[in-house]
Amino acid sequence: MELIILDRDGVICRFRPGDYAKTWEEFEFLPGSIQALQKLSAAGFTLTIASNQAGVGKGIYSGQALQDITQRMLKVLASHQVKIAAVYYCVHTDENNCDCRKPKPGMLLRALQEFEVKDPARVFFIGDAATDVQAGRNAGVRTILVLSGKTGSATEVTTWPVQPDFIASDLSEAAEIITAQTRPDHGKV
Ligand SMILES: [Mg+2]
Ligand SMILES: [Zn+2]
Repeated sequence: MELIILDRDGVICRFRPGDYAKTWEEFEFLPGSIQALQKLSAAGFTLTIASNQAGVGKGIYSGQALQDITQRMLKVLASHQVKIAAVYYCVHTDENNCDCRKPKPGMLLRALQEFEVKDPARVFFIGDAATDVQAGRNAGVRTILVLSGKTGSATEVTTWPVQPDFIASDLSEAAEIITAQTRPDHGKV
């Protein structure tokens, strides 16, 4: 089964500039994101999430609050027949110098390992920031940058040292790119 790794904020839910989704009330699904996940789920992809949540490490919200948001998010998604196979969070700050805070590839590598991916180059990582694109490259997967979060326009991207493999307006368009590129049940087209 083909693996897809998704960033959370700015991809699935609204990106809050200079802030975090600290409570469930502040967590807002982006328009069309649930439907896009539904489409990918129905197509047989294994969906996972890899998200930096340094707000926990900074003490802005607790690990418990993050777990609460996660459980509620998964419940809503499940009610739409979307199964998320794993959620990975990095709760560290830059100062912690961990190996999981994107642009480092720790969370992505863990997903590749846990889901026994033999060919990482076939995996898609969808994110909304330059650090996502870098993390994807560092993990050896394909990247789709969505313009529904931190990155406002494709023009910004032209100066980035690492370029995404694809740019999409949002998760719906990213899902279209993925289904056009992949046939999960029949291997490579
Ligand atoms: Mg993000
Ligand atoms: Zn970390």
